[in-house]
Amino acid sequence: MKKLSIRAKITLWFSIALIIVVIITYFMVLSVSNQIIHKTIRDNLIETVEDNVDEIEYFATIDDIDLENDVDQFIRYEDGFLEIDDDFLNEVNQIYTSLYYSDGTLLYGENPVIIETSSIEFIDSQIQKVNVDGTIYYIFDRQLTQEGLEGLWLRGVVSETQGNIQIASIYKTSLILMPLLVFITILGGYIIARRALRPIQQISDSATKISQGGDLKQRIQVGDGNDELHKLANNFNDMFERLDKSFQIEKQFTSDASHELRTPVSVIMAQCELSLEKDRSVDEYKEALSVIDRQSKKMSKLINDMLDFTRLELKSNQYIVENIDLTELFKSICSDMSMINANNITLEYNLEDSIFFSGNNELLTCMLTNLINNSYRYGKKDGHIWVKLESNKDNIFLYVKDDGIGIAKEEQAKIFNRFYQAENSRSNEGTGLGLSMVKEIVDFHKGKISVESELDIGSTFTITFPK
Ligand code: ADP
Repeated sequence: MKKLSIRAKITLWFSIALIIVVIITYFMVLSVSNQIIHKTIRDNLIETVEDNVDEIEYFATIDDIDLENDVDQFIRYEDGFLEIDDDFLNEVNQIYTSLYYSDGTLLYGENPVIIETSSIEFIDSQIQKVNVDGTIYYIFDRQLTQEGLEGLWLRGVVSETQGNIQIASIYKTSLILMPLLVFITILGGYIIARRALRPIQQISDSATKISQGGDLKQRIQVGDGNDELHKLANNFNDMFERLDKSFQIEKQFTSDASHELRTPVSVIMAQCELSLEKDRSVDEYKEALSVIDRQSKKMSKLINDMLDFTRLELKSNQYIVENIDLTELFKSICSDMSMINANNITLEYNLEDSIFFSGNNELLTCMLTNLINNSYRYGKKDGHIWVKLESNKDNIFLYVKDDGIGIAKEEQAKIFNRFYQAENSRSNEGTGLGLSMVKEIVDFHKGKISVESELDIGSTFTITFPK
């Protein structure tokens, strides 16, 4: 069963259920039609006998009757005559009606089972069911009460087998029609199931092709539509899109990272080779070691930044979001960082009171630290850094402004890319990862970041968080 396709399973269950329903219906139809036919036979019997009751009359004499032109029958009875009207039905639809004396002797009429049924006791206006040689008969008697007819009985007899022909024909028709109906329904169900499930087959084929070929650029083609399967295919396509994008980013990151690491490693190797080539003076060794020290520190910073970055990406859905007093958090960061005082740069801050925000403490700390660090790093001697926090009805705004070296217009859009460093700051010990990390953190908090800057005048980074 497990090995069967969904299509086969649906068709199988559907067919079994249908066959059971059809069999039950078949027997119900037979039983109901059987009952209806037998009831009809009995009703016809009663009706025929009741009608015949009024077709018999007693005449003491028939002298006044024009026998030549009278179509009715006259039979002698006691001292007079019985007139059997020509409407009297001896036999109709195999219902036989006969006239009896109360002792069971036949007076008039036909009865195919005359001998056997004449011995059966007369009961007025009641259906009797008797078995004569294995055949069931219905008998209906009426005692005649009209003047002169007292003591006579009308008896109607009909065989139960009369309905057998109709029942047999119902049997036969049902036996042909029902399997045909089952067959057509199953076939229809199978075709519909196959059509409905075709997109699943296409999804499965495309997914296999993509996973075997490893080509995440491929998409599942199921045409237009808005049903569940089209939605499933679209979800798969969106997933491939995202996977493709993140693989591209990973690839780019690995290539950028190895490229960035290659430079300091090459410098270190070159310095070592040069120093080992021949004896050098102490000053030359010192010079070589300080180059190696600088490059190692650069590598170490690069590796640390890369680790921070990867950690941020990997854990992005595990960071706890809580209600944070942003004013207090930023105040403590600014207060700590104002102590750096590098290049005699002064850090000033103006933070609106009690601004609360749902965010992650660790990430928001990393974000502001990075921005202030950059302002120190790219600031001018005796310069300034201004940090401002304010809010309105909908948003919270954070500004980090400096009067440092600034960023050229054409580079401003690129500084948020990984490893990007602006032309005027390449020699700095930065890695080009800080701002891309800041951007990730802002994105995580559903915020926006922008920069306004002018070369040699300074830069302002603005972060907007929705409340
Ligand atoms: P890093 O500072 O490690 O190089 P970032 O991602 O933090 O990397 O910054 C990317 C680039 O943006 C920096 O190399 C620098 O050129 C430029 N930059 C960032 N902040 C400032 C700033 N406050 N003033 C001038 N340039 C900046």
